[in-house]
Amino acid sequence: MEEKKTGVILLAAGKGTRMHSRVQKQYMLLNGRPLLYYAAAAFEQSPVQDIILVTGEQEIDVCRRGITEKYGFNKIKRIIPGGAERYHSVYEGLKELQRLGYGKGDYVLIHDGARPLVDGEIIRRVMEDAYRYHACAAGMPSKDTIKQADRNGFAENTPDRRFLWNIQTPQGFSFPLIMEAYEKMMSCEEYQQGVTDDAMVAERMAGCRVKLTEGAYQNMKVTTPEDITVAEALLHSRLS
Ligand code: C5P
Repeated sequence: MEEKKTGVILLAAGKGTRMHSRVQKQYMLLNGRPLLYYAAAAFEQSPVQDIILVTGEQEIDVCRRGITEKYGFNKIKRIIPGGAERYHSVYEGLKELQRLGYGKGDYVLIHDGARPLVDGEIIRRVMEDAYRYHACAAGMPSKDTIKQADRNGFAENTPDRRFLWNIQTPQGFSFPLIMEAYEKMMSCEEYQQGVTDDAMVAERMAGCRVKLTEGAYQNMKVTTPEDITVAEALLHSRLS
């Protein structure tokens, strides 16, 4: 793979309220290491150049000591505070990369710190598709039948499963493309309604086609307490 300057925005500024825990989700221990460690380690070992870690204002110090310094992650160049919604946190990360000199011809991967099972293969596939198509998102075809519900909880429509994907992160973009798309979205509140991932911002604001890149069924997001048990088992099986 021809390498191009590529930065990563690693998101860990969510409140994690669905975890019902006193400890912030990203710092909960999985097999003895903080949840956030795993994704940070995967990117540290990948060909990307710079990682911007986005976390809560109160957690910046904990993050520096408990992640960057403790594990010697040299690619984490900045730890910055995020915002109220996920897209605010992403925008802060994009502006920080711009301050580091990112611009034309450069690329960015955006990843949820709550997905510890991302690995080198997924990162490589996302980098390749980002370089080739300028916008891509990791995901997997849905294993379940998906129904669209009406407001009363009745099935309204059953889309053809062959064309339904569960979307994950990392998502990869040409830096100027996603920066311009975010700037446009941030300029008008109406554009921000219902935005849940970065591919949506590229689709809506830049009208661009987003390639769906093979992720992995294992690349789950740790959201609720049950997810911790599953993620620990998957991380454990990866070692053997
Ligand atoms: O809440 P959600 O599941 O969409 O969060 C996905 C990722 O985005 C998590 O890693 C979370 O820490 C991050 N996030 C963030 N800033 C927010 C909300 C979520 O960095 N305001």
